[in-house]
Amino acid sequence: MERVGSIEEVRQAVLAARREGKRIALVPTMGALHAGHLSLVDAACKRADYVVVSIFVNPTQFGPGEDFAAYPRDLERDFDLLRSEGADLVFTPSVDAMYAADAQVTVAPGPLGDVFEGEIRPGHFSGVCTVVAKLFGIVQPDLAFFGEKDFQQLAIVKRMVCDLDLPVRIVACPIVRVPDGLALSSRNVYLSAGERHAATVLYRALRTAETLALGGETDAALLAEAMRACIAEEPLATLDYAAVIDPATLRTLDVLAGPARALVAVRLGETRLIDNMPLSTGA
Ligand code: AMP
Repeated sequence: MERVGSIEEVRQAVLAARREGKRIALVPTMGALHAGHLSLVDAACKRADYVVVSIFVNPTQFGPGEDFAAYPRDLERDFDLLRSEGADLVFTPSVDAMYAADAQVTVAPGPLGDVFEGEIRPGHFSGVCTVVAKLFGIVQPDLAFFGEKDFQQLAIVKRMVCDLDLPVRIVACPIVRVPDGLALSSRNVYLSAGERHAATVLYRALRTAETLALGGETDAALLAEAMRACIAEEPLATLDYAAVIDPATLRTLDVLAGPARALVAVRLGETRLIDNMPLSTGA
């Protein structure tokens, strides 16, 4: 496994792999890797011949007062994990390598970036789209792997690839959870013991909606209300949003008739956690 920090080194390594006829995959991450990230790398290794993992805590997707400085970083541990997982190249650029001091052009996510996470974190998805577009330009992967954990991000990246005709196939990977249902997240390390215990409320809320839907409930507002009621029972949790949406347009649904996704976002102390689950009707 090679470790490189410059765009030029990535281009050379990928060019050499491509000359050997290899199919190139990219797994973008912010590091502090856990089994969720590694599931993406594993999926990439199965579908491609040369797997590039980027580790970059992207400042432009953090708002003022968010956790950019405190975001967990442990590069040596990340390298060990990626080596065991079978990654070929790890790209760890500095902020200066990614953003020229006079850079001006950014990618606007459009209306999908204004709701849910975008409403609470203004500018977040512009930062995400810009860095993902840059990584696609640097690596030029055939395939890029994203987790359903960040469902809105995945929907926006798919939309960006489609709307900008970017020559890359987006592969979505399922959410990896610990046995009590909590979705793995680099931010889980921020939780106190009490908050960690309370954090299972996200999964409980989603399962409540899932169970009602499977039982035949098609009133999407009622499903969202059931999730809110579940979260209200956890004293440490403050609700940001709970919604039942169309997975492609992210519009809030009235009725469950086709594909649907339940989304929740909760604050536990200083930490924000997000989670989601597909909903299918009992029919
Ligand atoms: P991050 O390092 O948080 O930017 O995440 C990098 C990628 O890993 C994103 O595509 C995430 O959606 C994905 N990811 C994070 N947590 C999980 C998880 N628990 N299960 C599956 N994918 C995940």
